[in-house]
Amino acid sequence: MQRTFSIIKPDAVSRNLIGQITQRFEENGLSVIASKMIRLSTEQAEKFYAEHKGRDFYEPLVGYMTSAPIVVQVLEGEDAIAKNRQIMGVTDPAKAEAGTIRADFALSVRENSVHGSDSPESAAREIAFFFDEKELC
Ligand code: ATP
Ligand code: MG
Repeated sequence: MQRTFSIIKPDAVSRNLIGQITQRFEENGLSVIASKMIRLSTEQAEKFYAEHKGRDFYEPLVGYMTSAPIVVQVLEGEDAIAKNRQIMGVTDPAKAEAGTIRADFALSVRENSVHGSDSPESAAREIAFFFDEKELC
């Protein structure tokens, strides 16, 4: 079993897609083992996306991620990191495979509805960024 970290981003939360997106995870064998709705501060968003600092999309990304509430979740299952990336589809919804979350729901490359960890190292870092050990059941 593996754990990964997921964000349902502001565009999806504000369009009432929390349930439909969570259903995609659950019906593909990923269990939600922690979940909460939060509003990111600018400092948190900057730190979370620090790897992209200096890229032209960094500042608008921070503005977007702090614009409205998000849902942060820990997902658990067989091969959870790769499976979640598959369920999400690629970053640009225009290029995402049919039936993926981003192909079906995302609005643009920036407002692309979900985040998912891309490696075991980022999953561990991102889970610890938002959750205490005692919140993970
Ligand atoms: P995430 O890390 O959110 O799961 P990802 O790994 O597919 O998505 P990254 O390259 O890590 O994509 O970029 C992080 C986020 O920054 C993207 O999900 C998207 O919201 C935004 N982003 C990335 N590239 C662009 C771009 N060219 N223009 C606008 N926004 C972008
Ligand atoms: Mg990424």
